[in-house]
Amino acid sequence: VSRQNLTVQEYIDGILRGDITILSRAVTLVESNRVDHQQIAQQIIEGCLPHSGKSMRIGITGVPGAGKSTSIDAFGMHLIKQGRKLAVLAIDPSSERSGGSILGDKTRMDKLSKEKNAFIRPSPSAGSLGGVARKTRETIILCEAAGFDMIFVETVGVGQSETAVHSMVDFFLLIQLAGTGDELQGIKRGIMEMADGIIINKADGDNIDKANLAASHFRNALHLFPLADSGWKPRVLTYSGFYSLGIKEIWDMVDEYRHFTLDNGFFYEKRQRQTKWWMYEAINDELRHSFYSNERVQAIQSSIEARVLSDSISPFIGAHEMIKTYFESIKNE
Ligand code: GDP
Repeated sequence: VSRQNLTVQEYIDGILRGDITILSRAVTLVESNRVDHQQIAQQIIEGCLPHSGKSMRIGITGVPGAGKSTSIDAFGMHLIKQGRKLAVLAIDPSSERSGGSILGDKTRMDKLSKEKNAFIRPSPSAGSLGGVARKTRETIILCEAAGFDMIFVETVGVGQSETAVHSMVDFFLLIQLAGTGDELQGIKRGIMEMADGIIINKADGDNIDKANLAASHFRNALHLFPLADSGWKPRVLTYSGFYSLGIKEIWDMVDEYRHFTLDNGFFYEKRQRQTKWWMYEAINDELRHSFYSNERVQAIQSSIEARVLSDSISPFIGAHEMIKTYFESIKNE
């Protein structure tokens, strides 16, 4: 089907058949901010939802240069040789500003980009982190309905994007490098706490000893963290993405995690928590948007701000007045 406009049912049928062209076009609709595109996209997602969920979703993070693309190429080839179908998605809220996303860029994944069982999609450039993350989560559903049973969500290991990724994956992999002996420096505790596996890349050549040393530092640090809700103790492994060493061990670990959490019930419990989180996240977003774009709120905003700043009213009274104005205007609509 190459017509300009497909019906919602044609999109859904195409995705369920595993038609990559139609999948890509549907993802483009998901990523679009046009109201008519969003309407179709939401119907496609709804149609795909009953066919989604049957994959392993993996978050992959690491600072630039840690070897994310090299590693994803190696991991992906390992999984595809096992007969799996892999989708590589990305969350990069900076892509809007920088005018293009480097994450999930096909040219960075040499071998994988030639595989028909790999679907690589760069980060949507929707602007805000919340917006980008939501689109990625919706794209996961479409990819799963299209038969992809392994989903990677790549993000840069700086800032807030890890939290967004964590809220949509089953297993979180943190890529680290052996450094100068203080590898723990500069790594936010929160990021380490999210990791189900810490993998130390570039364990090759002269770097092997340093990588092993780094691994033992990480293991010691992890001992200090309380046991996660999953009951899973995060592991630390060394590997080389470039030379494809230690790759099997990483994916054996992920398999083990899957079995462990399926057995203790955490696997689906976590997915349900995430689904709930996204619903409330969507409510918060919509309310915030409705509030700040309300004309009557906008009309009083700067004068209330001025009164708060000059201490003539407290910030709470200022907030209350704006909210009261908002609800009055909604009632009269
Ligand atoms: P990204 O920015 O996290 O995606 O990192 P890249 O995958 O682009 O890798 C950054 C640099 O590290 C590149 O020059 C890679 O060739 C190199 N690199 C990646 N993995 C390895 C590895 O396992 N061993 C070695 N020695 N170099 C690597």
